[in-house]
Amino acid sequence: MVAERLARAGVCVRVFEERLGWEKPCGGGLTPKAMRRYPFLLEAAIGARRIDEAEFIAPRGETVRLRLRRPLAVCSRSVLNRKLLERAQQSGAKVVADRIVRFERSNQGWALTGRERDYTADYLVLAAGARSRMRAALGPDFAPKDFMLTFGYLVPGAEEVLRLKFFEGFEGYAWAFPRADHLSVGICAKVGEERMAELQTRLHEFMERLGYPQRGAEVFAHLLPAPSASAWSSQRIAGKGWALVGDAAGFVDPLTGEGIYYAMRSGELLGECLLEGAPASYPERAWQEFGSELAHGARLANLYYHSDMLGKTLSTRMIQICRRSERFRDLLQDLVDGTQPYSRLVGRLYRELGGALVEVGARSLTRLLSGHGPDQRHRGMGPDAGHRGRGSLGTLAPQ
Ligand SMILES: Cc1cc2nc3c(=O)[nH]c(=O)nc-3n(C[C@H](O)[C@H](O)[C@H](O)COP(=O)(O)OP(=O)(O)OC[C@H]3O[C@@H](n4cnc5c(N)ncnc54)[C@H](O)[C@@H]3O)c2cc1C
Repeated sequence: MVAERLARAGVCVRVFEERLGWEKPCGGGLTPKAMRRYPFLLEAAIGARRIDEAEFIAPRGETVRLRLRRPLAVCSRSVLNRKLLERAQQSGAKVVADRIVRFERSNQGWALTGRERDYTADYLVLAAGARSRMRAALGPDFAPKDFMLTFGYLVPGAEEVLRLKFFEGFEGYAWAFPRADHLSVGICAKVGEERMAELQTRLHEFMERLGYPQRGAEVFAHLLPAPSASAWSSQRIAGKGWALVGDAAGFVDPLTGEGIYYAMRSGELLGECLLEGAPASYPERAWQEFGSELAHGARLANLYYHSDMLGKTLSTRMIQICRRSERFRDLLQDLVDGTQPYSRLVGRLYRELGGALVEVGARSLTRLLSGHGPDQRHRGMGPDAGHRGRGSLGTLAPQ
């Protein structure tokens, strides 16, 4: 994105990519926010799969299924990566298939050592993802706790519904994102939360329950940045002659793991700052536009995954209340849309909780919260899956 923006304005840009258009481990989920900002993501060439229904599964199997107000889309990362490189190239950037192994300051700017040959540059943008060790050469590196570990499979098959499953006392979730001809099914957890073998067991149980086969599926594992609230204050994303964008800058929603939008937007924003001759304004603009929200999200992630509400995890309570309350489902829709700021989420939660009490009737909510609600365990991928809850919503007249 930054190369495209700069090259279009006539700047001489080279993009180094060691693996051109590869299937980067990723869910490939595109939010309405991303599609609104970048309508080209909806072009047929991207081949993104439109998703109209999402199902949220609580630790003990209760579910709520939403007909999405605005659809999500899921794309293959190899297609998206190729498209982004192509757009940069068409704008005049030179895409070089090389791995940069080292860089250092030189009189002219930067001296880069590639596997294939050496290069020089006036300005350096590090967009090398979460695993890159090169960011440590530019500023304080992230601590292990600032990452999530992910593991998953690309499963052959077709599905309509996007699924997210939460667990008790566990900072992370499992997902199943349907793509054009396969699904990305995986799990993420804060580093240190569990060992890889335990993560795999959780994911395999999730897959077995939903009937997703492991056989014939391609395996992936990767890191996802999830900077803790404290990491945001020590973050340095730009300096003299350099800047970080995307995962390298830690720009990922710590609650949802959404990073594609922030990678694209940070690249675009940096391009604008450079073209205005004001590169030093990039950190502040990134912070104002989305950084402070992501930092809020980091605080909320801790609260969301580790707090109880009347003896049950918050995810369980949210799902239980969403099953019965239109207002709570609206809130969930806004979160999926990306229109509910995290900075105002807690206030809205309290308001909606009050509203939900009126909506479903105090007695029924009290009964629900005291654990006497109907058990709506998930029942697999069949036509009934998750529908019992949806069916019962209409019958919840105030009592
Ligand atoms: C399992 C998983 C699931 C995810 N699901 C979603 C999702 O559904 N939706 C969403 O929005 N986000 C998701 N994310 C996050 C998303 O993948 C990232 O936030 C996004 O890809 C970041 O883009 P980036 O360009 O900063 O980094 P990357 O996509 O990691 O790209 C970095 C690129 O740099 C190249 N590179 C690295 N080092 C060098 C080098 N030394 N020389 C040359 N090239 C180099 C790599 O080959 C790579 O192509 C997920 C992440 C993971 C791990």
